[in-house]
Amino acid sequence: MKRVTLLGATGSVGQNAVDLIGRNPDAYDVVALTGGRNLAQLVADAIRLKADVAVTCHEDAYAELKDLLAGTGVAVAAGAEAIREAALRPADWTLSAIVGAAGLVPGMAALSHGATLALANKESLVTAGPLLMQTADEHQATILPVDSEHSAVFQALVGEDIAAVERVIITASGGAFRDWPLERLATATAAQASQHPNWDMGQRITIDSASMFNKAMELIETKEFFGVSSEMIEVLVHRESLVHAMVGFHDGALMAHVGPPDMRHAIGYALHWPDRQHLPVERLNLAQVGSLTFDAPDDTRYPALALAKRVMEEGGLSGAVFNAAKEAALDAFVAGEIGFLEMAQVVSDTLDALSSDEGLQNIAMTLDNVLETDALARIRAKEVINRLG
Ligand code: NDP
Ligand code: MG
Repeated sequence: MKRVTLLGATGSVGQNAVDLIGRNPDAYDVVALTGGRNLAQLVADAIRLKADVAVTCHEDAYAELKDLLAGTGVAVAAGAEAIREAALRPADWTLSAIVGAAGLVPGMAALSHGATLALANKESLVTAGPLLMQTADEHQATILPVDSEHSAVFQALVGEDIAAVERVIITASGGAFRDWPLERLATATAAQASQHPNWDMGQRITIDSASMFNKAMELIETKEFFGVSSEMIEVLVHRESLVHAMVGFHDGALMAHVGPPDMRHAIGYALHWPDRQHLPVERLNLAQVGSLTFDAPDDTRYPALALAKRVMEEGGLSGAVFNAAKEAALDAFVAGEIGFLEMAQVVSDTLDALSSDEGLQNIAMTLDNVLETDALARIRAKEVINRLG
């Protein structure tokens, strides 16, 4: 039996993984499930999948979770440290599907026991990609991508020499506002930004899709994960969200990964890798689809992309600043403190402030320095937000 742990089990990606595992429960020994406020889901899944332990990241929810699981045989824990401890429990396969930089420490913990980390939490690669990859190397652990574009690239690279790769193209739907006139964007609300045209995902990544901060993070994720240079990575707007990524080789071949927008494909691929097993995803009828469209992204509409290029060029801890400022800006946008277009402004100004103060390229990428920089960037971002608001 494969021992599995799902970090962020109650979220959108986590629930897709629960669905896959729940279809074949005898094949899995569920070690830990973690969540946050959604205790009802955490409890239901922990009982159904017979998890050893269920953990919420909120310490104040401990008593309630304990009550809900009393007499079930499922152990209970709460708080950020308890999530880290859950990730330290030996498992063969751990899914990192926590949202935000909060996924970094548990992801590092999971790598330390040398097994497989299926990584949906792109924020940890954006924040501390080199540290994560180095930790995996040190413990002979494997990181498998779960983000759909990166799973697509990974699959296109099977059996290939990375040295033969000329370019990597990741696609973007264009998000909720792709057809809005530019001048209307300033008035966009969080409710409007939370409607994705093709994918059903958590609220934060859906808003990040509207602003293209999601794609910006994915550019950095591509660089960190595959070790390709930033000039080799491109974004194409592809409204249908069926081609997830393409890899171009020296001989001119372009290998595209095509599939329905269903995260169970990428999660299932990582779950069964290096094999392929039957997955319950729709089979595309391309005759019905008819046509696929591709457009170059409009840099004025999506300033996040230029910020990602800047981060890839600067390197070092600028990714940690970028991610933390983006998270703070997103919180402020959802709270109605800043407008939609001001999110990019917050990230840009925070990067400016910290690049000149701290020399982000010169600080060693230790976990302590990353966490300190993340905290500092949130303070600086808040100052920018207060100025704008
Ligand atoms: P959700 O918001 O739906 O779920 C996040 C999960 O993390 C929930 O289980 C939540 O608990 C838990 N959580 C929230 N805050 C914390 C915290 N501080 N510490 C520990 N756990 C926490 O997010 P998604 O599933 O949409 O996304 C998860 C990750 O996967 C993100 O990094 C995202 O970018 C990435 N991703 C998502 C895709 C998607 O299809 N949704 C596609 C590709 C990548 P609770 O809900 O109980 O409060
Ligand atoms: Mg993606």
